[in-house]
Amino acid sequence: MPINGTSCPIRSNGVDVPRLEAFELYRFYHRGDDETAALRGISLQLNAGEFVALLGPSGSGKSTLLACLAGLEEPDGGHVDVMGQRLSRRPEALRAALRGQHIGMLMQSGNLFEHLTVEGNMRLQMSLAGKKDRKKLDALLGVTGLAERRRAYPSQLSGGEAARAGLAVALSADPKVLLADEPTAEVDAATETLILSHLVERCHGNRDTALIATHSEALAARADRMLAIRDGRLVHA
Ligand code: ADP
Ligand code: MG
Repeated sequence: MPINGTSCPIRSNGVDVPRLEAFELYRFYHRGDDETAALRGISLQLNAGEFVALLGPSGSGKSTLLACLAGLEEPDGGHVDVMGQRLSRRPEALRAALRGQHIGMLMQSGNLFEHLTVEGNMRLQMSLAGKKDRKKLDALLGVTGLAERRRAYPSQLSGGEAARAGLAVALSADPKVLLADEPTAEVDAATETLILSHLVERCHGNRDTALIATHSEALAARADRMLAIRDGRLVHA
């Protein structure tokens, strides 16, 4: 399966390849003599069409897990496969290409290039995946309530607008896998409902996959499945 292919790989038994798989992920941080085991052997599988919530208290490892799943951080042990292709421990250029093609990532901050407008950031994300789709761009600006702010620069956005713009960017290339770190933390209830409906619809309608770290009960209630993390390990939700 070439990384620039658009179809979804199918295994010889006719079953869709999992969109994302993690095998025994470990991640350690060191500060002086202190060691933090942020991930301690996490395995998971995200399948086509699933909208999955990732729950866990602050410091439990949610952001570290999402960064490893997106290939933004390398796990110290274990590996990640996206669309059946190995992502971990590959050259940065290949990781970036796989990420651009298949993964949309919304981090808690730092999602926007400061020198580009909201629309410019979205266009860049599209072009990384070799796409150009004006209708899609307009639709996403509508869903995220940013139609009037498309020409604004990140420094001109409120916290909530920046979070919504980050989500619009993450969805620009129509990724098979969306990884989002608390996407509705800074939005009002009405916008959260709109965004949630869009995220659930693209999973169920297009058989896309989303893993969303959240503290939102509204979001968890819409999930097909919940994963709970505590001290770097998955526990029963
Ligand atoms: P969550 O997103 O659930 O709040 P994180 O993944 O941010 O959790 O953090 C998990 C653990 O790893 C915490 O103990 C945190 O302090 C630690 N940690 C995260 N990033 C770093 C880093 N860059 N350097 C050192 N420790 C880190
Ligand atoms: Mg976090």
